[in-house]
Amino acid sequence: MSPSAPAPPVDFAFALDVDGVLFRGGASNPIPGSPEVLAALQHHRIPHVLITNGTGILEAEKAREIQDMVRSYVADEAHTEAASPAAAAYTLPEDAVVIASTPMRSLVTHHGWAKKRVLAVAWTSEFALRSARAYGFENVVTVDEYLAKHPVLVAGNFVDAPVHTEPGHWDDVEPIEGVLLFHLTLGAFRESLATLFQLAVGRKLETIQFGKPFPEMYAYTERALALQFYRSTHGTDPADIQQDLPLPGTIYAVGDNPLSDIKGANGRGAPWTSVLVRTGNFNTDAPNDPDNPAAMVCDDLLQAFRQIAAAHGLPLGEDLC
Ligand SMILES: [Mg+2]
Repeated sequence: MSPSAPAPPVDFAFALDVDGVLFRGGASNPIPGSPEVLAALQHHRIPHVLITNGTGILEAEKAREIQDMVRSYVADEAHTEAASPAAAAYTLPEDAVVIASTPMRSLVTHHGWAKKRVLAVAWTSEFALRSARAYGFENVVTVDEYLAKHPVLVAGNFVDAPVHTEPGHWDDVEPIEGVLLFHLTLGAFRESLATLFQLAVGRKLETIQFGKPFPEMYAYTERALALQFYRSTHGTDPADIQQDLPLPGTIYAVGDNPLSDIKGANGRGAPWTSVLVRTGNFNTDAPNDPDNPAAMVCDDLLQAFRQIAAAHGLPLGEDLC
């Protein structure tokens, strides 16, 4: 069995949530059918980006994790019959992964923040520094460095505590001259800080929220998909990577969480089309989510892919290729 000849470029794309769509809990537990779908997306040259609110890992590491998941799935004898040979050659590039903090890259590429001083906060200063540098920030200060320089700002009993690990999930905070950038899970932290900032400084704290369902995440993902779409239709990179490139006619956002995946895609509007799957957060018998109804509801990614491919007239073999 060998893959058929690649199909011509298609006019649709996928933005796939990860946990609850591709795997449950971790890459060692792939949801049946998802490795085949990923391999088929690559085989048919269908632009696809993984879009997750997960953090704490660099995009390149997450890409490698998913790539290995697909390849080891096909290498597993139990799956050999079901898996496409295309899965063995599956490659997921770093720029096909958008985690909650990835859109911060655009602050450097589109807003000239490369040299601005940034206080980067994550669960460790080492990761905060690595992450900010990977995004192109050149003037990065960590919490450890800041505290070492201004110990008087911290109450005595905190000085002895590992302050940078205390916030736990309060990752991806980057205050810059009164501007704060942060991740969705920071809602409570943001409210507290905004109140303290208002009291101490006397003006409103400016903030930008990243992650799903916020618009920055979708704008960034559109650029990533537009670049893949250009490559699939032209066979090469655009001369000017900054230019606005055309989007595919439809972007299918497949997710398991109505509050983030579906709400975000619905809020962004055309060409986004929301697809809710029952393999994670949403696992009831209800026909749809009542508060954030999706345009399509499917049992899993495999069923969604088959329906969408059929709707676009894409012929699929038994192995989806
Ligand atoms: Mg999910």
